Amino acid sequence: VRTLWSCPNCDAQAVTYSTRLPHHNCPHIPGLMSPLIKAGVRAKVEAVEREDYIGDELVQLDANGRPIMSVITTRDDGQDCAIYAPTATGG
Ligand SMILES: [Zn+2]
Repeated sequence: VRTLWSCPNCDAQAVTYSTRLPHHNCPHIPGLMSPLIKAGVRAKVEAVEREDYIGDELVQLDANGRPIMSVITTRDDGQDCAIYAPTATGG
């Protein structure tokens, strides 16, 4: 299935032939990979800064040095959240 994706925050677009969600290095969220949104779907993608004390933990920083906790995708039908927790092993 051919799927067209685009970014609500910049000009990035992608075409995929699988159900895998494409990511890109968005200038709006520098230094982190943000998800693309299916073309035609109204959505908002935003980075959430970590607000708790960081200490010695290794955290994910964006290109501006802000500690980013998660990237949230908000659609009309729900939310996706990619969490950059220090203990996360990815997935
Ligand atoms: Zn983008």
